[in-house]
Amino acid sequence: MTKLFETLIGGYTGYWSYLTGEMFNPGWHNYFWWLVGLSLFVWTLEIFFPWRKDQNLFRKDFWLDGFYMFFNFFLFSLIGYNALSNVVVELFNNLLAAAGIRNLIALNISGWPGWAQMLLLFVVADFLQWNIHRLLHHIPWLWNFHKVHHSVEEMGFAAHLRYHWMETIVYKSLQYLPLAMIGFSLKDFFIVHIFSVAIGHFNHANLNISWGPLRYVLNSPGMHIWHHAKNIPEGKTGVNYGISLSLWDYLFGTAWIPYSGRDEKLGFEGVENFPSTFVDQVTYPFKKDKK
Ligand SMILES: [Zn+2]
Ligand SMILES: [Zn+2]
Repeated sequence: MTKLFETLIGGYTGYWSYLTGEMFNPGWHNYFWWLVGLSLFVWTLEIFFPWRKDQNLFRKDFWLDGFYMFFNFFLFSLIGYNALSNVVVELFNNLLAAAGIRNLIALNISGWPGWAQMLLLFVVADFLQWNIHRLLHHIPWLWNFHKVHHSVEEMGFAAHLRYHWMETIVYKSLQYLPLAMIGFSLKDFFIVHIFSVAIGHFNHANLNISWGPLRYVLNSPGMHIWHHAKNIPEGKTGVNYGISLSLWDYLFGTAWIPYSGRDEKLGFEGVENFPSTFVDQVTYPFKKDKK
């Protein structure tokens, strides 16, 4: 028990010194400053080459989404996720050990070159996320959490990280086991994470990008805007579930771009009554009386 408590406290204090270290020591291997740099880069592109030319630079919910961005990327981990997940992983390992399982690895790729391990992690994680994203749309209680992301009505790069913190827990927990079963030897997948953040920023940006022939592999703003469209084909729970890759939607028949979605109405049925502040949005899924 004390061991678990130490892990919990170590998780908090470790993350705190990590966070302050990141903020005060800019460098190439630094999540905080990459997030800031990427955001400024994509925002600058939006300013000079906007897809919806009459959209405000400080569009509706710009600051709210900016807050979500730093909350989800840093503060949520700081407040609880990092420390708690360390505890859960330790409990899980204790449980496995008690069951006599010492080795989870089903596929050992530790001898592969670094770039191949990164590519495999990127593709496998993205496919898992595509499936988890579908669950968020199909399972009603999960949809209540995912509504926060879909309540954006004017699209811009910062909407990328506008989501309920529960999504972090759902995505990370469901991905944990399958990824742990692959024996990666690299400890550091920084490049993969930053690449995913960049693609996610672009997918939500007010930019007219479709990647040409690469669009069947890579997600884009022109495709993802339809994921956020209020009106989707009758009988469907969602379309274009892709996170970084569009490939899965084309392979499994969930891709849908009927025409340019530039001026498409965004949101969901009743979005106008969805809470508009951070606190009301994160408490929304837990309320019995949802309007
Ligand atoms: Zn969605
Ligand atoms: Zn989105």
